[in-house]
Parts: sequence; C-alpha cells; structure tokens
Amino acid sequence: MSVILEKVRSLLEKYPLCDSCLGRQFGGLARGVTNKERGASLKLVLTMLAHLELKKGSPSGAETLKVLGENVGYPPAANLLSRTGKGGCYICGGLMERLGEYAETVVKSLEGYDYRSFLIGVRVSGELAEREDAVKSEFGVEFGESLKMEVSREIGKQVSKITGKAVEFSKPDVVVTVEFPGPGIEVKPMPLFIFGRYRKLARGIPQSKWDCVHCRGKGCEICHWTGKIYPTSVEEIVTAPILRLIGGKCTKFHGAGREDVDAIMGGNGRPFVVEVKEPKFREPDLAALENEINRTGEGKVEVTSLRISDRKTVRKLKEGAKVAEKTYRAVVELDCEKSEEELQSLEKSFNGCVINQLTPNRVLHRRADRLRLKKVHEMRVTKIDQRHLELIVRCQGGLYVKELISGDGGRTVPSVSEKLGCGARCTELDVIAVNEGV
Ligand SMILES: [Zn+2]
Ligand SMILES: [Zn+2]
Repeated sequence: MSVILEKVRSLLEKYPLCDSCLGRQFGGLARGVTNKERGASLKLVLTMLAHLELKKGSPSGAETLKVLGENVGYPPAANLLSRTGKGGCYICGGLMERLGEYAETVVKSLEGYDYRSFLIGVRVSGELAEREDAVKSEFGVEFGESLKMEVSREIGKQVSKITGKAVEFSKPDVVVTVEFPGPGIEVKPMPLFIFGRYRKLARGIPQSKWDCVHCRGKGCEICHWTGKIYPTSVEEIVTAPILRLIGGKCTKFHGAGREDVDAIMGGNGRPFVVEVKEPKFREPDLAALENEINRTGEGKVEVTSLRISDRKTVRKLKEGAKVAEKTYRAVVELDCEKSEEELQSLEKSFNGCVINQLTPNRVLHRRADRLRLKKVHEMRVTKIDQRHLELIVRCQGGLYVKELISGDGGRTVPSVSEKLGCGARCTELDVIAVNEGV
C-alpha cells in the first residue's frame, strides 16, 4: 500500500471523516478535482485493495473493511461486510454536505444589492478549527488545504452558479462573510470610486469642508449655526449630488493636492477621486451626474472627465500630487518700481532654479516645520502697471507660490522679493494647470 493509502487508513481508523474532510487533507495533490472527489476516490481505492486482500485470505483486508464500513460508514465497504456503519464525520459532523444551503442563504442576503462580482469570506467556529488542526498535526498532514479555503471556494462556486455573477478576489463589488456553522452572515459592499477633474472658478471656496474652530462643527453664534467657516466647499458641491444619485453611507473626497481658499483652480482642472462607502448603485449615469454637479456648482465649481476608478488611483493621486508639475498665474504687488531690464533678469534667474522653502509661517500651526527643495521650471513676467506684475510660474508640485513671491521673512530662498530687492506680495493666485498623468 502506498504512503498515501496507509495514511488514509490510519486517519479513518481513528477519526471517521466525510469525503470532503478526508480529501482536504490531501488537497495539495492533483489539480482540477474537488476535495469531495479526492476523498471518495481514496475511500474507493482503499476498499478495493482491502477487498483484494480479503479474497486472498489476508486478515488485514478484513480489518481495513471494518474501518471503512463500520467506523466511517462508507457504503461500498459496509456492503462487503453486510453491515451498516455508524458514519458521521469527526471534523464537520456532516456540515460539508450542506454547503448548498449556505449558498442559498448567501444568495438571499445579496438580494437588493447592485453587484457584478463578489467574494465569500468564511469565519470557521473555534471548535471546528480545533478539530481540524488536531487531525492535521496528529497525522502530519503535509499537502492539506484549510477548511476555510474549501468552504469559501465551494460556496462561491454555488453562488456563482445561481446568480451568474463572478467570484472576484482582488476587487469584488461585495464581500459576504459567512459564519461556519453559522447562522451569522454579513454583507459588505465595497466602496465605489469616481475619478474626475474639478475647476474652481470663484475665490473663497476651500477644497474640503472646513469646520468652525469655535464649535468644532457643532454650530455656534460665530458661524451662524452652520458649523462651518466657509458656506460651501468643492467637496460639498461635488459629493452631495453623488450621494444623492448613487446612494450610500457617506463619501470621502481625495484631491490631488489642493489650492488655497482664495486661489482659482482653472485650466484642465485638478484631479480628484470621490469614494462612496456602501453605494446602492455601482453603474451610475456619469453624464447625468456631471450635469447635476455642474448645475449645483452654479459656475463656481465645475467637474469634467468623470469615470469609475479604484483605490489604486487614490494612492497614485496622492503620490503624484507631490511631484506633479503645476502652472500658476499670480498677480504681484511691488513696493517699488522696476525696469523692464530688471524684470527680464528676474525671469531668467528663476528658470530651472531650485527653491529652499521652510514650511510657510501661515500654515505652521497645522503643518510640521521642515525644509523642502522645489524646482521652478519656468517663470514668465509681464508688467501690468508700475507696481503690479503678472507671473506665470511652472513648477514642481508642493511649492508654496505666495511665499516664493514674498520670501516669507527669509524662510523661502530665493524669492521674487529678494531678487528684486524690494517688498513683493501675491494679491491673486490661480492654478492654471495640473499635470498628473492619471
Ligand atoms: Zn467532514
Ligand atoms: Zn461655530
């Protein structure tokens, strides 16, 4: 008898196991068959060998048939002995025969959800897992599979057969966690991600909702019981229609960086992803959604290029924002007059220039103080009048442009103010392009 069959015999002698639970102990051997088929085959071959030995008059054959027929209750062996076995699986107690019932419960619990793919998670009871582990370690199971894996795969197969939806491991629309033996069951729709680009065409709108600092968002006299410092935000304008049209628990707004409250965000717009938690629908009409956002944005905030996205894009957006190139338009007020020549040399001196920038004073209360090195790729200077300039600055993401102009009391070096040798302030700032590559 082979090593495998000897192990099967000693396993079954001590513990009666159903076909699935026996097959699972050898789950790593042979592909394209279920554990149930593995277990049934092992029992059949073992019975045939025992029958052969019995015919030859060897007593070990009768012993093996007793194990299979009486202890395990395997019908072909029991028939040879003309006795009925006691049966019952030591590990699962027959639960593996009832996976179809679990699949039906899962299908019922998924009613009313919008999904194309799903994943079954299984929480195996401590008792069941302990019995399985004990058998595995006692018999030095080498090529076994876990009970959890088999149960989730087999329920998944059956649910897929009933619903026609696919089992998806990396990005399922919904995850169903089944307690085994149960009866608990938990349905969790995965978040829906919507990518887009926004343009902010009015000043005084922050990107995200800004809680009132006095009441922390609860509402007080100072904020006129709104709980907010600004009446609205890009986040609120974009996410309210999304939540209204798609339904769901809540939303999260992920921007690829942010502009100042008083800055315009123009050009091709800034990329963002809205994460909808527990969405009701997963295939929204994106054109209708875009129209609705733009209608409620009243020309202050506009979105374009909406598409269904994923969590990976959120990560790329965050990482990309740090390095993505940005182009700004700034209006600068000077404390003195400068000649055309001086302005031309200012332009030249900043092309390809690396700026040493300590965290600006104005954000020090909420950001760590650290030095960043950021490159200005290109600067174009146009004189508006004696005391005003217009700058077009193409630079690395993360450069604070207001401080690039003022010098921030020596915290940003070099600066427009330093190079010109006179005070300079940014009075208007617009982002005119964000080049993310996502
Ligand atoms: Zn079993
Ligand atoms: Zn308040």
